[in-house]
Amino acid sequence: MSNKYNISLVTGDGIGPEISESAFSILQTINDDMGIRFEIKKLEAGDAVLKNIGEALPAEAFEAIKNSDACLKAPVGESAKDVIVYLRRMLDLYANIRPAKSYPNMPSLRDDVDLVIVRENTEDLYTGEEFDIGDAAVAFRIISEKASKRIANYAFTIASKRKMKKVTCVHKSNVMKKTDGLFASTCSKVANDFPDVKFEEMYVDACAMNLIRQPQLFDVIVTTNLFGDILSDESAQVVGGLGMAPAANIGDNFGLFEPVHGAAFDIAGKQIANPTSFILSIKMMLDWLGNKHNDQKCIEVGQKLESVVYDVVKNNIKTKDIGGDKTTMEFTKEIISRL
Ligand code: ATP
Repeated sequence: MSNKYNISLVTGDGIGPEISESAFSILQTINDDMGIRFEIKKLEAGDAVLKNIGEALPAEAFEAIKNSDACLKAPVGESAKDVIVYLRRMLDLYANIRPAKSYPNMPSLRDDVDLVIVRENTEDLYTGEEFDIGDAAVAFRIISEKASKRIANYAFTIASKRKMKKVTCVHKSNVMKKTDGLFASTCSKVANDFPDVKFEEMYVDACAMNLIRQPQLFDVIVTTNLFGDILSDESAQVVGGLGMAPAANIGDNFGLFEPVHGAAFDIAGKQIANPTSFILSIKMMLDWLGNKHNDQKCIEVGQKLESVVYDVVKNNIKTKDIGGDKTTMEFTKEIISRL
């Protein structure tokens, strides 16, 4: 069944507005020529909004996001905690899915990588529970069985549909015996429900090394919030850099899609940002909408979008960060002309 979807598009800071223009024109093309109706609402949130009106995520923007079918969010700067961390918590977006996949002609270590990092998104050191005690600063690291179980289930479900069918649980339970011990043992229990999926455990330091040494051996990595944040930047670099890395934040009822990278203020306003990570986030959104609404058209258009990105870089049409000379919009137009 084909539907009409209300999409909230948060334009963000730094390179956010430039890559949002790119995402907007791709959504328009899909809307005009590919048979999926999008009602797109552009919203502002982040450092600039904080400076202008005193809050990084105005209540109206939050309501608009909450009431949309899905959100595409460009990166924000220093106010990330008040925007994305807040949205993840308020909308209970517990699974952060970060694929790292090889594309042709990339400045990458290998060309045969196809892995997904499934990062727990609601707990760990990212809850911001920090206190001063005397001359020391203390942070709470909470890991629960409930959150570990649902993220493990998510990871195994993804793995069960993939070719390699393997989950690597990444932790540091030899040092953090209670917290990571609980995470590891919960993942190990969930593994019993998925006999077709191979299961292994790896300490986070070994994983960081193996992502460089033999990234092609990974399939689905499930890990806690902070480790997942760090390892997904690393795995993005393994396949060509942050400009190629999309992400999805998924809950039971809502999906928010964003690039792995931040606001990249150093290159903002120069029209050299690579919009691919945001464009591939649209592909993840289409997959999610398609599965949620049983809309095969969304899934097909998502596949088409991914294959067009592949085709464009295969023809050596690239932005500066991945060794090309195209501007953000020139690159986007190459994609649009092939859609
Ligand atoms: P955050 O902490 O918000 O994740 P960060 O400090 O990791 O941000 P990013 O903004 O993610 O930094 O990016 C790091 C560097 O990678 C940038 O300074 C920029 O040079 C490069 N970079 C990131 N995203 C892109 C992109 N889409 N296109 C080109 N270069 C990028």
